[in-house]
Amino acid sequence: MLQVGVNGYGTIGKRVADAVAAQPDMELLGVAKTRPNFEAERAVKKGYRLFAAVPERVERFEEAGIDLAGEVEELVEESDVVVDAAPSGIGAGNRELYEEYDTPALYQGGEEEALVDTSFNARSNFSEATGADHVRVVSCNTTGLARLVAPIEEGFGIEKVRATLVRRGGDTAQSDRGPINDVLPDPIGLPSHHGPDVKTIFPDLEIDTLGLKVPATLTHTHSINITLESEPEAEEVREALADESRLFVIPEWLGIDGSGSLKEFALDAGRPRGDIWENCVWGESIATRGKDLYLFQAIHQESDVVPENVDALRAVAGTEDATTSIERTNEAMGMDF
Ligand code: NAD
Repeated sequence: MLQVGVNGYGTIGKRVADAVAAQPDMELLGVAKTRPNFEAERAVKKGYRLFAAVPERVERFEEAGIDLAGEVEELVEESDVVVDAAPSGIGAGNRELYEEYDTPALYQGGEEEALVDTSFNARSNFSEATGADHVRVVSCNTTGLARLVAPIEEGFGIEKVRATLVRRGGDTAQSDRGPINDVLPDPIGLPSHHGPDVKTIFPDLEIDTLGLKVPATLTHTHSINITLESEPEAEEVREALADESRLFVIPEWLGIDGSGSLKEFALDAGRPRGDIWENCVWGESIATRGKDLYLFQAIHQESDVVPENVDALRAVAGTEDATTSIERTNEAMGMDF
């Protein structure tokens, strides 16, 4: 059993903790939080051992009546691998702690590439994380692009990717990002940071990305144009994408016309927190014009990186190969779209 600790228990950390707890070959040793709040209360109710991420704040948990299992150092020492899910940039400051206890760590997409030995996407470069001490699971948008690029590159060849990312303004609980009413080119100049980030996984890929932020919380939406090396029919591309376990090609007849109905679909399916772990590619949006491929995909920012974290744990520990790990993760999480 791989012993896993999660340091940082917010949007990503709490989802990764649940996904780890669901794996038959992993044990969730506990989660570390900086302060007592509703997420800390739920963690304890679920039976997760809760550790203080900031030792000076132990008293605040005591005052709130929340029982702690200890301080984060103890969690790090006990763990085979730690998942750091602290806010962007904070993970870098935690690296010293992981090194002190010689515990390999996964970081999230908000950290710099230079912090780690390798950036990670399960479908694209799983084996590069084997035996690494510091691995960065790339951001939600980069994960979404990498999952799409891998099978298209293999099946049809890619001359160049052009992607416009319509990004949600904030996550559902991020009240500090709102109330909002604006549409922001972000950044105004080419490129957005996503293209260079995809190149941490595919160094030789030609890719330009543009970004916009909109007043939405449900998903990101990508408008994709890829110039291929071949001229497939749209149906061939659709079939290739439908074969990928983490790409959900939305059939037209489902009547899912946007992020709202997609989220409702996930809730109806009983997905925890309405999570959508797969890229959701609108089937009828897949079109080809000669060598040019077009499509739209929705990326659920709060959850697509969660299965990738689970796979990165196995990659670091060297316990499974990519195909076996992806299958195990998908099955344990109930990824059935
Ligand atoms: P979040 O703010 O929801 O959660 C972070 C948690 O870490 C909070 O509970 C915070 O109190 C805690 N924390 C703060 N300082 C800490 C410390 N020193 N040690 C341990 N915990 C600490 O943030 P999030 O959205 O979950 O983002 C976490 C990381 O995941 C970031 O790198 C982010 O870029 C990345 N990410 C976020 C999303 C998303 O849409 N939310 C998607 C993909 C990747």
